[in-house]
Amino acid sequence: MTHRTIHLFRKGLRLHDNPTLLAALESSSALYPVYVLEMEEATRLGALRWRFILQSLEDLDGRLHALGSRLYVLRGSTLAVLRELVTRWAVTQISYDTEVEPHYTRMDLEIRTLAQELGIKTHTCVSHTLYDVRRIIKANGGSPPLTYKKFLHVLSVLGEPEKPVREITAEDFLRCPTPPDPDHERQFGIPSLEDLGLQVPSEVLWPGGETHALKRLQQHLQSEGWVANFSKPRTVPNSLLPSTTGLSPYISLGCLSVRTFYHRLSSIYAQSRNHSLPPVSLQGQVLWREFFYTVASTTPNFIRMQGNPICLQIDWKHDPEALEKWRTAQTGFPWIDAIMTQLREEGWIHHLARHAVACFLTRGDLWISWEEGMKVFEEQLLDADYSVNAGNWMWLSASAFFHKYTRIFCPVRFGRRTDPDGQYLRKYLPVLKNFPSQYIYEPWKAPEDVQLSAGCVIGKDYPHPMVCHLEVSQKNLALMRQIHAEQQNTAQLTRDVSDDPMEAGLKRELQEEEELIEGAESNDTFKRLNNEVDHQSRPCR
Ligand code: FAD
Ligand code: MG
Repeated sequence: MTHRTIHLFRKGLRLHDNPTLLAALESSSALYPVYVLEMEEATRLGALRWRFILQSLEDLDGRLHALGSRLYVLRGSTLAVLRELVTRWAVTQISYDTEVEPHYTRMDLEIRTLAQELGIKTHTCVSHTLYDVRRIIKANGGSPPLTYKKFLHVLSVLGEPEKPVREITAEDFLRCPTPPDPDHERQFGIPSLEDLGLQVPSEVLWPGGETHALKRLQQHLQSEGWVANFSKPRTVPNSLLPSTTGLSPYISLGCLSVRTFYHRLSSIYAQSRNHSLPPVSLQGQVLWREFFYTVASTTPNFIRMQGNPICLQIDWKHDPEALEKWRTAQTGFPWIDAIMTQLREEGWIHHLARHAVACFLTRGDLWISWEEGMKVFEEQLLDADYSVNAGNWMWLSASAFFHKYTRIFCPVRFGRRTDPDGQYLRKYLPVLKNFPSQYIYEPWKAPEDVQLSAGCVIGKDYPHPMVCHLEVSQKNLALMRQIHAEQQNTAQLTRDVSDDPMEAGLKRELQEEEELIEGAESNDTFKRLNNEVDHQSRPCR
């Protein structure tokens, strides 16, 4: 039978490698591409993310238009909108991508129930991940592999992910047209940011949409040597332009297919004599995403500590004032504040920069729950992603997946290693821009005359550091040691028996900027730290 179909876009905002849309077109004689703006989301997502979504919709509408179709954008609850449209357009089928997040799996169930009630069909495929994560779980005996190493092993049994499907063309829409509506713009046009009551003053560094995603992918893939040799720990967190692909906003919204990305990487690897491997390679990065999606799909309360069986239960501090200082870039540590400023203004920060601020908020310095940090990221990141965000926050806070909790990032030395002159700090914290390089990472140490001639007096124009890093990190470390000892059974769930795979690449490379506080008495690190104690204790208050 040929259907009259609504294809519901949620993520998957693209026409390349869109197996659900392709199948819908092939089984239908009329197809309506629909996107529903669920406005209750507006309170959760920040304006930058909304701008990115609206731009992605504009791009999708433009690409559909070029093929003779249009995007129908509506506001409201997806279910109410579908119910109305099915009748209005005499629809017999609804198609949508399968998702793993609870918000979408609930919606999927509601759509299926609605379809049953109305006597119509549903059609759905997986295309937001490389694999159908249920296959991975099945191959692992019914539960998700909880370490990356085990995860890779399961994948090696499953074989390569499916190849992308062919691109949608004008012929597809000739055979299966989108019935035009003369009142399209008024009824189904894409609202502006202002229409949503939002404002973003900053310039557009990450224009949303498939067109930009494919352009960005193409640019990176041209540097075949860079792709083949990519090693995540060697990329730089404080370069003024992203030192990694910067594809995450596009991948998170499905403007770029991960399968397309993965297989394009495979063909470059096939041409090169030698290339990097997971966990540090570019394919390894996409596999981290797949790993977190797999674990998140069946772990109860994955984005919370309580009721989450893989997450250590920690009595984090309730300190709204400290949280606010972190969120608003007022910690007094330029390295942390510059990163939080880039996050707020631009919506993207490098992976190791995320490490720095996440460790600082949680187990490193402030001892505030990872859930609080995750919520701030969710609001401010262009690439905010349910599974990946929570998974990485658990990692950084050593609540799950990562167990080398003795390694705490120093908020002064971490950034200095790759940017000794502090160009990155000067860009994002212009108040510090005239500080001499010697003091830019710890401006509180600058003598008064240096502060005066830099035009920035610490305590007046820029805050004193909110904590003494050495003191609080040592205290936190002792707590963390106790927690890991007491909750060994939970910790064991996500620990590799052998070496931690991410550590393999990181160890040597990052040792430099990480303080090995544990057992420090016996090594040089401690001597180094001890030498710093005097200076560091000054700002303690
Ligand atoms: P590249 O290094 O070029 O990697 C390519 C792709 O691989 C990325 O686009 C992304 O899709 C995937 N990827 C890379 N690193 C990871 C990782 N560690 N885990 C899972 N997938 C990865 N990434 C998000 O996409 N959304 C989030 O909400 C998010 N929250 C994070 C929170 C914290 C505390 C931390 C430490 C990391 C978080 N990340 C998140 C992971 C990672 O930092 C970003 O995916 C990456 O920095 C994006 O930049 P890129 O596209 O240039 O990455
Ligand atoms: Mg338009």
